[in-house]
Amino acid sequence: MLPVVALVGRPNVGKSTLFNRLTRTRDALVADFPGLTRDRKYGQANYDGYHFIVIDTGGIHGDEEGVDEVMARQSLQAINEADLVLFLVDARDGVTVGDQAIADHLRKQEKRVYLVCNKIDGIDAEVAMADFHSLALGQLHGIAAAHGRGVEQLLNDSLKPL
Ligand code: GDP
Ligand code: MG
Repeated sequence: MLPVVALVGRPNVGKSTLFNRLTRTRDALVADFPGLTRDRKYGQANYDGYHFIVIDTGGIHGDEEGVDEVMARQSLQAINEADLVLFLVDARDGVTVGDQAIADHLRKQEKRVYLVCNKIDGIDAEVAMADFHSLALGQLHGIAAAHGRGVEQLLNDSLKPL
């Protein structure tokens, strides 16, 4: 059985961009506006010698209603199915109320969770990432999903033990 990795986080943090990189497809729609991936999307990743199933999700705002609630439910199901959760946040936004709501949920789960700070390209990564330690989800990984920076290190740290 391949390990299952779920990508969760608010809309627009770069989950689909990371999914596409890991699966080497352009399958997941990448958007400049939030909330395009409404359903869970499964892909096979073969990246840097690691084989796993990756699940892309539509995202959780943290205060769901209507369509957003469906998206949130998809994310919760993906978390349940996963051996490893990669919780993505946006380095440029700092910690948001939505991030805090998701972190609260994840801290209650018996899951391996890695906090992944995306979009560290072109900014001072150390400064941008410092804010996210307040989410109290352990070690923080900085990546730029769009360019691949940090992705190999993230997989080495999070997938090797599985
Ligand atoms: P999702 O809603 O979480 O799936 O986010 P998307 O993958 O659709 O990405 C949302 C936006 O962030 C798009 O405009 C992406 O091009 C952009 N984006 C994703 N990853 C990066 C990154 O590493 N750096 C920068 N600067 N932008 C990124
Ligand atoms: Mg998406």
